[in-house]
Amino acid sequence: MASKLVPVREYTVKAHKRLIHTRVFNFVCKECGIPTKRETYGPRPLYCEKCRPPQAPKKSLMKPQKAKPRPMIYKSKTDLD
Ligand SMILES: [Zn+2]
Repeated sequence: MASKLVPVREYTVKAHKRLIHTRVFNFVCKECGIPTKRETYGPRPLYCEKCRPPQAPKKSLMKPQKAKPRPMIYKSKTDLD
């Protein structure tokens, strides 16, 4: 097979959604040293699910909801003027 180098112009990829898949990794946990396996989307995990539980509670999710603005009730018409 013949081959040659061809120039490729630089281009920007538009924002889009991509379907990614998890992989199951067999590895030894860096913290407890126990051989385990773990399913992740990203690169090979370092810790087992006991040392680094998936979906650890995030502070951002724990914070209380902000008070929503409530409609005011105007009792007299003069308030609106
Ligand atoms: Zn571990």
